[in-house]
Amino acid sequence: MTKPGLLIVFSGPSGAGKDTVLKRFLDENPDCALSVSATTRAPREGEVDGENYFFITRERFGELTAMGEMLEYAYYNGNYYGTPKDMVEEQRARGKNVILEIEVQGALKIKEMGIDAVFIFLMPPSWKTLKQRLANRNTDSPWNVAERLNIAVTEMESAHLYDYIVVNDDLDACTAQMKAVVAAAQCRAEYCRELVEEVLRDAQTIHVSDN
Ligand code: 5GP
Repeated sequence: MTKPGLLIVFSGPSGAGKDTVLKRFLDENPDCALSVSATTRAPREGEVDGENYFFITRERFGELTAMGEMLEYAYYNGNYYGTPKDMVEEQRARGKNVILEIEVQGALKIKEMGIDAVFIFLMPPSWKTLKQRLANRNTDSPWNVAERLNIAVTEMESAHLYDYIVVNDDLDACTAQMKAVVAAAQCRAEYCRELVEEVLRDAQTIHVSDN
């Protein structure tokens, strides 16, 4: 039986560098896969439907949530974002560690539901860096940048509720830390419980003299 993959919840304020860190991490860790969310936000330049997000209407989003098709969802900065259940379940069943790149409200919903997951929060090295990164992005209006900075403060106030905080100062170091966190999560007693139970079951049926 394939051991189900981990569910990894990855959050951080807009501008912390989540996409860059994840891209590098996924390139180096083929046993992990990124879940593709659904959103009602319009695609940004270069974004591809089905790759970056499933871009859907509010009506469709409402239908999917009503049918219980979303693992979690949240309203963020004027739009809905949600994690379709099917892809996550299918990938985990095949042994892939699935990463949800989601904002804090959705992450906390997963925690409240008691779903076993590893919660990682990506921090910028400083407030100044975060502001600069957002201002340099040129994908949002100044109003939107200010709004995202306000949200960033609220999100960072919840960082202590996560299991791990990784700082995105140096990309190499940050990716190595992510790898270490995932390796540690795979050694958690809860995650390895089935193996321990299997060995103990065998201990009762296979005698010391058996080969
Ligand atoms: P953006 O519009 O910049 O792509 O994403 C805005 C925020 O929505 C980011 O913090 C991102 O992590 C979050 N987000 C993306 N997909 C999901 C999702 O499926 N659920 C939730 N709760 N947040 C999401």
